[in-house]
Amino acid sequence: MWKLKAILKRLEDFYGPPPKQKLRDPFEMMLWEMSAELATDEKRGAAFQALKKRIGSTPKKIAAASPLEMVEVTKLGGMEPARRAKRMQDAAVLAIEEFGGNLRSILKRPLKDAVKALRKFPSVGGPGAEKILLLTRSYPLLALESNGLRVLRRLGYGPPVSSNDGKDYAAGYRAVREALAPQVAAAGFDTLIAAHHLLRRHGKELCKTSRPLCAKCPLARDCPSDTL
Ligand code: SF4
Repeated sequence: MWKLKAILKRLEDFYGPPPKQKLRDPFEMMLWEMSAELATDEKRGAAFQALKKRIGSTPKKIAAASPLEMVEVTKLGGMEPARRAKRMQDAAVLAIEEFGGNLRSILKRPLKDAVKALRKFPSVGGPGAEKILLLTRSYPLLALESNGLRVLRRLGYGPPVSSNDGKDYAAGYRAVREALAPQVAAAGFDTLIAAHHLLRRHGKELCKTSRPLCAKCPLARDCPSDTL
């Protein structure tokens, strides 16, 4: 079976190096996710920058903004702007009331406590909490979103991708992580952060949910799910 490092090497040769991680603050990382819905990274980036410029990106600034101002900005990120604006303001209030307006202290907590604290925030589930802990270089985890998870399952880690995945998402996530645990233990932050970005990109661009573009895939030769 493919080793994680070999997969990443092949993907990096194909797509180029993963993007540099610019955001390091957990609250800003949450705002980034809530800035857009079903949008490209470019659109999300533009919406996030507009939020920073017009309102700010601290819990204090977000909580103090009027709902109308918030929606004016979240509209730039596509669908459901009012719902996303409310979530941002709910997150800001929680950050102030429970964490003194600074979420960085959460990153120093033991892993289980840190995940639990991050999951209190709107839109942050277990994988989202782990992503924050990885990208802030707090814990070296294999933090996968749905695209990366699908790629690894198609490459033979965990259960094969099936039409029941909606129901079994958590079980599939756990199984992939268990299958890769020995390799993850030997990997550092750079490898795991690259894994997050490159697997996500591959899942979005070629190893899509339906009809993956295997004919163009740099992993096709050794992929057990190759649909060529
Ligand atoms: S060969 Fe096809 S199924 Fe396998 S990783 Fe590439 S795109 Fe996905």
